[in-house]
Amino acid sequence: MSRHDYDLFVIGGGSGGVRAARMAALAGAKVALAEEYRMGGTCVIRGCIPKKLMVYASQFSENFLDAPGYGWTIPGTPSFDWPTLIANKDKEIARLEGLYTKNVQAAGVTIFSDRAVFEDEHTLLLLNAQKKVTAEKILIATGNRPTREMGTTHIIPGGDLCITSNEVFHLKEMPKRVLVAGGGYIALEFAHIFHGLGAHVSLVYRGEKPLRGFDNDMRDALVDSMSARGLDVMLGCEFTKVEKRGDCLHAETNKGGVIECDQILLAIGRQPNTDALHVEKAGVELGMKGEVVVDEYSRTSAPHIYAVGDVTNRLQLTPVAIHEAMCFVETAFKNNPTRPDHEHVASAVFTTPELSVVGMSEEKALGTGHSIDVYKSTFRPLLHTLGGRAVRTSMKMVVDAKTDKVLGVHIFGDHAAEIVQLAAVALRMGATKRDFDRTVALHPTAAEELVTMRTKSYSKSPG
Ligand code: NDP
Repeated sequence: MSRHDYDLFVIGGGSGGVRAARMAALAGAKVALAEEYRMGGTCVIRGCIPKKLMVYASQFSENFLDAPGYGWTIPGTPSFDWPTLIANKDKEIARLEGLYTKNVQAAGVTIFSDRAVFEDEHTLLLLNAQKKVTAEKILIATGNRPTREMGTTHIIPGGDLCITSNEVFHLKEMPKRVLVAGGGYIALEFAHIFHGLGAHVSLVYRGEKPLRGFDNDMRDALVDSMSARGLDVMLGCEFTKVEKRGDCLHAETNKGGVIECDQILLAIGRQPNTDALHVEKAGVELGMKGEVVVDEYSRTSAPHIYAVGDVTNRLQLTPVAIHEAMCFVETAFKNNPTRPDHEHVASAVFTTPELSVVGMSEEKALGTGHSIDVYKSTFRPLLHTLGGRAVRTSMKMVVDAKTDKVLGVHIFGDHAAEIVQLAAVALRMGATKRDFDRTVALHPTAAEELVTMRTKSYSKSPG
């Protein structure tokens, strides 16, 4: 019999925390979970799911425009109602939140709607209830939140006039002119969402091209596509000051210009939710960005305390948090030490069209010592021939020249994420380019291009 109230206490009811709590409870542990806001965490409440619903909403505008090429007449001018989208989205999110709660409770987990902070290495204080609970093992799964620190070290003057990806889901009105700061997933996704919904969008990014770390050819294809669609892409640019003048916001940039707009979305990264958690009372070490430092089994510097998901600042992706949670339960409750696998994780930026990738970019492959063969293809998707839209799909395969193993698959085009998910299976199994080549094409699809790219574009060696 444990001398603690619980075998496991999970702090945070997001994707990682919920999965860990459920699986540990189903394995026979006595489990409690504290969530101070809403069950479901970033992914369900203010991330992946509501974002994807908004992406779908934003893509209707192009479909309406392209429909006449296929013989359709759209009577009148289609119009979009932001409050309807937001209300319907909120309803769906509330439904999912309910399901999350129900599933956790059905597994026998006790849920505290409260904020839990450390009192000592086995004791947590529930702040609202002012109640102390103890647990044999503790899992920190508190996630992260959008940062507001711009420039190099400071919050820019007027930065509090800007919104982040927390507030963007709850705006009362749709802004007509939107300025998006950043060049990561969130900045690019919302730039496309607002553009598709009819706003004028400017993207302000400090670097040379957005999506640092992605394959350079894909980054170029994305920037070209954004400019062709009419988004203003301002590279090498940062805000220095934001002011409210009348109903408008004015953003001054380091280039000397002033941009007038209705909303400014800061999407300049996220910071781990560890402040005020008092992890120091439990001997848990934090890293430079405030992330919980963990070993390869997600164990913190306190051996009975683990951490999974965004709070560890490894790969900030929902399925990765879930995978880490499953490995944690194997390790801590099933006597089966299991390391999460952070290789071959596919990801997608839900722009229009999507940019999706699994494996290494050309630059990463060369940087890690591979001699490579590169296969590239750019084509006009069949859908857009009659629709008349001048868009291109770009695909790229990076192949190890010595072993013929496919190191990376990159797609910028419609349904890229759906295609890359399956390419990830092939890469996970160690597929070679020859395996792709001897797979019969499925016609007519965009994905067939991956098995018909026979002509090498070029070869390169490191250095
Ligand atoms: P990212 O870390 O992806 O991007 C942050 C961006 O902000 C970068 O372009 C960065 O520039 C820029 N930036 C950082 N600091 C500053 C600064 N001080 N001033 C100006 N610009 C700055 O963050 P996101 O917030 O977009 O997303 C966080 C994470 O969430 C992602 O990494 C991803 O893992 C996950 N996510 C995944 C999604 C998906 O799977 N579709 C969707 C949304 C989020 P630079 O490159 O120069 O450093």
